[in-house]
Order: sequence, then structure tokens, then C-alpha cells
Amino acid sequence: MRSSQLVLASSNSGKLCELQALLSPLNLIIRSQQDFDVPAVAETGLTFIENAILKARHACRHAGIPAIADDSGLEVDALNGTPGIYSARYAGPHATDEENTQKLLRALSNMEDQDRTARFQCIAVYMRHPSDPTPLVCQGTWEGVIVGSPQGDNGFGYDPVFFIAERGCTAAELGADTKNRISHRGQALAELVNRLS
Ligand code: IMP
Repeated sequence: MRSSQLVLASSNSGKLCELQALLSPLNLIIRSQQDFDVPAVAETGLTFIENAILKARHACRHAGIPAIADDSGLEVDALNGTPGIYSARYAGPHATDEENTQKLLRALSNMEDQDRTARFQCIAVYMRHPSDPTPLVCQGTWEGVIVGSPQGDNGFGYDPVFFIAERGCTAAELGADTKNRISHRGQALAELVNRLS
């Protein structure tokens, strides 16, 4: 029998809001890992997949119910795919979104527009229990270009510098509903919801 609850393995409030909205079609009680005092886990993996599984397993173990975790980040072509899995800590272990974004803008300061291509990647994982040998793994990718200065107040992380050509604006200028529908996390979670429904 499937549990009627699941725990989201994230303490990032921006991300939690997005995940709650995306998972609403499942009609499950979605709990935050803070409800279970899940301690932070070191993201020691070298890939998004390893880190997502590590976070989901840790949340399952502490909460005793199924867990969904995602691991995501920004890959910049001119920087050989960095910051990648280090996106949250690009400017240092406790860096703010602003510090990470400013470091990225400095790294790309001499680049022409055509060399500023990037994409957000997201791996979403569902695990039934800590020793689940077949976690459900889904991926979403969102293409964009890094602009020279921040634009927009919505979202979080690198959203203000992530320009989406088809929309003519940055991710931070999109409404939450639109971002949820088209983003890397939106795509990965939609596939997960589909496979769990
Ligand atoms: P995670 O919490 O380990 O998955 O790290 C994700 C990091 O990647 C965030 O802290 C942001 O810096 C960046 N990131 C991931 N998704 C987004 C997004 O939708 N918008 C902006 N930045 C993002």
C-alpha cells in the first residue's frame, strides 16, 4: 500500500514553494523535512543524480515515509559546465544567491552574447524507503543565456541573470505558475507526477 504522505527533502524555501505547487496533482500530504527535524546532509556526490538520491535516502531514513528530492544547478558552456553541482556554493560554502550571481557575472564579463549559453538541469528522485533499490529518477533541462546584469525580482538563485529567448525575459521576470510549467524542475517533476499517478 502506498503512503498518503511524502516528505520533500529540501530546506530551501524558494524551492519548497515550487515543489509543493508542482506535486499538488498527486493528492498526497506533502510534508517539509523540517517537520521531521531532518538534519542537513553533505552533498558529497559528483553528479546531480548521486546528490538527489543521497538527499532522498536521508529524508526517508529520518522521516520514515517516502521522499522526493531534487538536485539542480546551472551549467554554463563557456565555463565547462560549472557551477554545475556546486551552483548553491559557487562563491563559497555559505554564499548567498547574490554572491553566486555576482561571481558568475565576473567570470563571464568579457564574453560575447553567443558565448553565454547555459542551462538549468534538474534531477528529481522518488524513494519509497531508505533501501529502495529502484528509485524513480526523472530529468528536466531548461536552456537560456546569461545576461550581463540582473533583471527581475521573482524566483531565486540565478533566475535574474538567466534569459529565456522564447519568452524575451529572465526567469526572475516570469510569474511562478509560468516558471513552474516550463522550468527544468517543472519538467522533471511533471514526469515524476506522471509516473506516480
Ligand atoms: P540544490 O539545492 O543543491 O539543488 O542547489 C541548487 C542551486 O542551483 C540553487 O541554490 C541555485 O543556486 C541553483 N538553481 C537551481 N534551480 C534554480 C532555479 O530554478 N533558479 C535559479 N537558480 C537555481
